Amino acid sequence: MTTNRTFTMIKPDAVAAGHTGAILKMIEEAGFRIVAMKKTLLTPERAGQFYAVHAERPFYKDLCAYMSSGAIIAAILEKDNAVADFRKLIGATDPAKAEEGTIRKLYAKSIEANAVHGSDSDENAAIEGSFYFSHTEQF
Ligand code: GDP
Repeated sequence: MTTNRTFTMIKPDAVAAGHTGAILKMIEEAGFRIVAMKKTLLTPERAGQFYAVHAERPFYKDLCAYMSSGAIIAAILEKDNAVADFRKLIGATDPAKAEEGTIRKLYAKSIEANAVHGSDSDENAAIEGSFYFSHTEQF
């Protein structure tokens, strides 16, 4: 089932560098509607829960420390074909491999501090969105 929704976080490196506005502008100009949005701070424990699927990966501990190192912006976005179109807009995980004009190519610092998160499936978009937002917070 496709919900036409995806979930994103603007990660600590991009928020700290002052790229929030530029990234949100790119997201809206690409046709995504912001359904819900908040600025918040993850504890290492909550970052660990969010990335539990990566618990066995060698970079998991570093990733949890990085994701709790500063404020993030969490948002639910809506558009036709949202998950796939958003993955295209953000580009490859490693900014060195990301296409020109993508958010990660423009704003990411490294494979870890890669500026933005984008859900990889409709199912995960729903799970990740509900990690941060209740139905009453969504418009
Ligand atoms: P994504 O779907 O493009 O975000 O990539 P993944 O789901 O594979 O990885 C989740 C997040 O873990 C990435 O966005 C990066 O922040 C981080 N990450 C992925 N691969 C590596 C890696 O090889 N080293 C480090 N340090 N971090 C990584």
